[in-house]
Amino acid sequence: MNKSLSHLRRNIPSVDKILESSEVLPLVALSSRTFVLDLLRQVLNNIRQELSDGIAKEFTDSDIQALVLTKLGEEFRRWIQPLLRRVINATGVLLHTNFGRAPLSQEAQRHLTEIATHYSNLEFDLARGTRGKRDIYADRLLRQILGCEQAIVVNNNAAAVFLVLNTLAENGEVLISRGELIEIGDSFRIPDILRKSGAILREVGTTNKTNLLDYQEAINERTKLILRVHPSNFRIVGFSSRPDLPELLRLAETVSIPLVEDLGSGCLVNLSPFGIADEPNPKASIDAGVAAICFSGDKLLGGPQSGVIAGKAEFVQKIRRNPLFRALRVDKLTLAALEATLLSYLKDRQALEIPLIRMIHLSTESIEKRAKAIVEKLPAIDSQLVCHIIDGFSMIGGGSTPNYGLPTKLISLRSPRLSASKIEYQLRMSELPILTRVEKDSVLVDLRTVFPEDDARVEEALMKLLNAIQ
Ligand SMILES: *Cc1c(COP(=O)(O)O)cnc(C)c1O
Repeated sequence: MNKSLSHLRRNIPSVDKILESSEVLPLVALSSRTFVLDLLRQVLNNIRQELSDGIAKEFTDSDIQALVLTKLGEEFRRWIQPLLRRVINATGVLLHTNFGRAPLSQEAQRHLTEIATHYSNLEFDLARGTRGKRDIYADRLLRQILGCEQAIVVNNNAAAVFLVLNTLAENGEVLISRGELIEIGDSFRIPDILRKSGAILREVGTTNKTNLLDYQEAINERTKLILRVHPSNFRIVGFSSRPDLPELLRLAETVSIPLVEDLGSGCLVNLSPFGIADEPNPKASIDAGVAAICFSGDKLLGGPQSGVIAGKAEFVQKIRRNPLFRALRVDKLTLAALEATLLSYLKDRQALEIPLIRMIHLSTESIEKRAKAIVEKLPAIDSQLVCHIIDGFSMIGGGSTPNYGLPTKLISLRSPRLSASKIEYQLRMSELPILTRVEKDSVLVDLRTVFPEDDARVEEALMKLLNAIQ
């Protein structure tokens, strides 16, 4: 044992004494003695470790006291607040899985809070005074909006795909084009889900080309389902094709095999005015007559994490009756948020109320105006932090439309004194973390994904950064 360590051993006040000190008593009052004691032991162990590793310097007695109290205070503050925090997304990626995908609307938030903090008629028929079903809330709105016969909701779209396959194709073959055997981020792979569902994958066609004849030739007495998957996060460009939906549907009808579409995003707004032309329309698939579609609630729909299964009653009912539905169903918080989100669509107020749709609608002019307002408040000419407003693109993200961006205006930051990655880090470590993009040697701030009420926070963080550089 080296000198400082034995010195520390001798000179650390007793645990009991520290716990009763005037600095620590308030921490005990704010939590519990057991918790503070546990933290204190960790802090002391760490200090001992640092000393024996030679990381920490030698201490005087009062140094040790102060160090223990400081570290304990820091640890305590770190522990008593939630680790899951809100951030400002200035990356311009609208749907970022790492940042929680779609932010909910005020309407969803209000409804969710009301339902979550009170009793509700979740499974109670108020008119009859008898047990009801939690299915009805999303079902009635999805019928109206999509024109489907029935709809149910599960935990996410991965669960939806799984449940569809397990119900309609267990022990049978599922035809899927080789060009649609995709992986969505975070280990959702169509072939894996399919295998786990108990269905057998029958690959059809080639990676870039699949035609109707390929499907036709693969059909046999074991075929139970044709699955069509929206490739979401990637595109095969050039020499590529697949049968269009009506064509494939005609074949499915001829051989009486259900056709299900995994649409990924479930985008209910027409994005072509924004230059995004390849997002499938769920209503079009329902109108065409597919057995069922499934899609995410928290991608382009702009609602809570969930998976919608909608289509013909015959199939949706069968899926609903699968005992696994019970294991994959959503809770009242999700149902409330989804109901409010769908109500925005029903009232045609999605562009006003749903943050994601609102952000898509933002004009470059309005984004530029906000960017200018921020940049103009920074000291006029500062060679330590060079700010420009430049043209760029916001991305939809979340596995949607990888080829298309929305034109935007970016604040580009650069400093001769601080590298772009350090600027990015500083902004990320702000009290309210600000997440940005680094491209080449610049840090890019895209206000499209920043709530306007947070512009002041961005400005504040840039000011702080400027002061830190000087
Ligand atoms: C995103 C996506 C999924 C997975 O949806 P989650 O809601 O994340 O579970 C499945 N299929 C497709 C085509 C997707 O784009």
